[in-house]
Amino acid sequence: MKQTTFINKGNWYKGNTHLHTTRSDGKKSPEEAVDIYRKKGYDFFVMSDHNQYFDSTIYDKSDFLVLSGIEYNINSKKDGNRTHHFTALKKYTEKKEFKHEQPFQWPYWDDAMGYRITNNLLKTVRENDNFTIYAHPSWSCMAPYEIMGVKGFDAIEVWNQECEAASATGSGEAHFDYLLRQGRKILAIASDDVHSYRDVAIGGFIVVKAEQFTKKSITKAIVSGSYYSSTGPAIHDFYIKDNVVYAKGSSCRQIKLIFHYRGKSFYGEKGEDINEISYELKGNERFIRCEFIDNNGNKAWSNPLYLESDNK
Ligand SMILES: [Zn+2]
Ligand SMILES: [Zn+2]
Repeated sequence: MKQTTFINKGNWYKGNTHLHTTRSDGKKSPEEAVDIYRKKGYDFFVMSDHNQYFDSTIYDKSDFLVLSGIEYNINSKKDGNRTHHFTALKKYTEKKEFKHEQPFQWPYWDDAMGYRITNNLLKTVRENDNFTIYAHPSWSCMAPYEIMGVKGFDAIEVWNQECEAASATGSGEAHFDYLLRQGRKILAIASDDVHSYRDVAIGGFIVVKAEQFTKKSITKAIVSGSYYSSTGPAIHDFYIKDNVVYAKGSSCRQIKLIFHYRGKSFYGEKGEDINEISYELKGNERFIRCEFIDNNGNKAWSNPLYLESDNK
């Protein structure tokens, strides 16, 4: 049996789960944002403006979908740099949901680390038909272990393009691996979080393998982890079969596997590029995720596979 993060049949759709428009503090209107992303070859994005829920079809095109969502900001009063942000994406499963333009407060932490208010909000948001993503942990000045107190989000941003462009805080990889190694089962997300719409602030995306080009099908695929995150390279397949893990994608200078204990790097012979690897499992990996890194330093991240024999 093949164990994989991707669904068997479907097509690939490129999207961005995090951006801002003039509905909050972004520099472009929703119409302009749709135009920019469409021209760059994207198929969808999530309208995730600050603290104001979006749930409408007004910006949809025949070849571009605007998914419903929001970004929540919960700030520390003591230190303005410390904050918990998370974005939400409507799952379209016809459960309870928020209203279009429904506003939310910008609450402050009411305990030392803001866990109580953040966790309560996460619970409410998930109960109302939303997938939740912990945003830009490095920009929020959170140490990996500090995220452990935030419970109940589905994914974490391993890459945030605008944070990297604006303040060199794009990577959330250390946080992702820390949580995985603590036994949390979460997904990875690369996003733009674009405010400025500068070229350097656009380029963190996910590519979803979904059955149909509909909001319901795309979000169903995201929720199940049937996608990869990237700033450039592609991951075509990632699976375990007969105790061997396989990763296949675009040509890269390095492919990495990351496990509970350490990981493994793969390079081509004599510095040549490689586009696939295989690795026989030892049995103590617990989780396995892969990364593809190309010659420009761009990277793709798979979602994790968990060893059935050693699930935590
Ligand atoms: Zn944010
Ligand atoms: Zn944001």
